[in-house]
Amino acid sequence: MNLQYKSTRNDNVTVTASEAILKGLADDGGLFVPVSLPKLSVSLEELKDMNYQETAYAVMKELFTDFTEEELKECIEKAYDSKFDTEEIAPLVKVDNTYYLELFHGATIAFKDMALSILPHLLTTSAKKNHAENEIVILTATSGDTGKAALAGFADVEGTRIIVFYPKDGVSRVQELQMVTQKGKNVDVVAIHGNFDNAQSGVKAMFENKELAKELAEHGYQFSSANSINIGRLVPQVAYYVYAYAKLLKNGEIENGEKMNVVVPTGNFGNILAAYYAKHMGVPIQKLICASNENKVLFDFFETGTYDKNREFVLTTSPSMDILISSNLERLIYLISGCDAGKTAELMQALKTDGTYEITEDMRERLADFAAGYATEAQTAQAIHDTYHKTGYVMDTHTAVASYVCEEYRRTSGDETKCVIASTASPYKFVKSVMTAVDEKYADAGEFDLLPELQRVSGTEMPNAVREILHAEVLHTLECDVDKMEETVKGILKIK
Ligand SMILES: *Cc1c(COP(=O)(O)O)cnc(C)c1O
Repeated sequence: MNLQYKSTRNDNVTVTASEAILKGLADDGGLFVPVSLPKLSVSLEELKDMNYQETAYAVMKELFTDFTEEELKECIEKAYDSKFDTEEIAPLVKVDNTYYLELFHGATIAFKDMALSILPHLLTTSAKKNHAENEIVILTATSGDTGKAALAGFADVEGTRIIVFYPKDGVSRVQELQMVTQKGKNVDVVAIHGNFDNAQSGVKAMFENKELAKELAEHGYQFSSANSINIGRLVPQVAYYVYAYAKLLKNGEIENGEKMNVVVPTGNFGNILAAYYAKHMGVPIQKLICASNENKVLFDFFETGTYDKNREFVLTTSPSMDILISSNLERLIYLISGCDAGKTAELMQALKTDGTYEITEDMRERLADFAAGYATEAQTAQAIHDTYHKTGYVMDTHTAVASYVCEEYRRTSGDETKCVIASTASPYKFVKSVMTAVDEKYADAGEFDLLPELQRVSGTEMPNAVREILHAEVLHTLECDVDKMEETVKGILKIK
């Protein structure tokens, strides 16, 4: 029997994993979730000696049951190869008494590569399995890192096209250059005059637009999503939490069965949700600690039980977390409602119309696995500064948010469980903010002048991803207003 997937907003339709990956979003606007979360069928003791690829297979075979072993292994081999600059794929680095799970060794030096190097392969395999004839058009909204990772993953992949929308003034210079210099005959990049939430809402509206879907089909196209609403992105992310635990065990840092805490710098709630899935699948995780920047809508939610996006949107030095509508929270809401699709649909409707909703007492009680914190801009910079001067380790701004929250959590809770921090980006990607935090004397330096300095202070090699953009040609200059996204997509696809 294959594991089925259903919408968070509707009990009536179930689909297979490959159908869910292909569709991206359910027709009712809900997100696909597995009807139950299976347990891992290999023991932690066995996992201990597995490499990353083998671990990924152990996880994915439980959740993508309609793929054959050969199909899954082929996707995994194509994804986790020499595109990563370390054989370990996701090294676990001990700094002081904290473990940093470095998820930024892929092609675009952010953790999005962990899922987006495999998604194109899962998607094209899904298309074949389901005899989909249309060309797949990947529509993506990005707060900076998803865009490049998706472009790199889908560039020149047969049977696909990709269009990325990013907020014109909401990403770092390195992030922007990475996107607008992307090569490939099937890629388009559009800067929108708005923020990430505008981009994400615009993309979601196109997915939900049945008229548009019909028009696309008439021209031989269908949409799918590379955002973390696609279950094909979430599931591969479960693997690195399993891997992290197995490495702690292998390195003798913990006893078999001893729990770990994970601290995740959070935006769209995809990464931390993957950790929650890992816990349900049998990884000994105590607390899931959700770290926010000044856009602390999630911190407030965990504190009060009310989600409220009606607030000022703050541009921070951790732009990939500048998000007020965390899409994947819907999957958690669904789980804590006791898998009540009606209740989930009602709350999501309230979010859409009023920008806010409140969960019930019963639901709040089911959030006990989580803790939450946030870091201000000054605290984020302080964390980079202090960690560097104490240990020599240089981390990026997103990781620094989690690092600060981790310390605060330890201090205030007294919980001494070992902590693994999801380290989500290379400091090279946010070199200006990182170096200014290390030493204020860099505040007036040019962004690219600081790259050799970062190399010097951190003692790490400049990644290829950065080297490449220094001289690459700008290929994409399209911009559009928030209310012109659909028109822009039609223009690109030459519909009408
Ligand atoms: C996307 C991103 C995040 C947030 O991850 P979510 O899964 O959206 O919560 C954090 N840090 C970096 C560097 C990112 O690119």
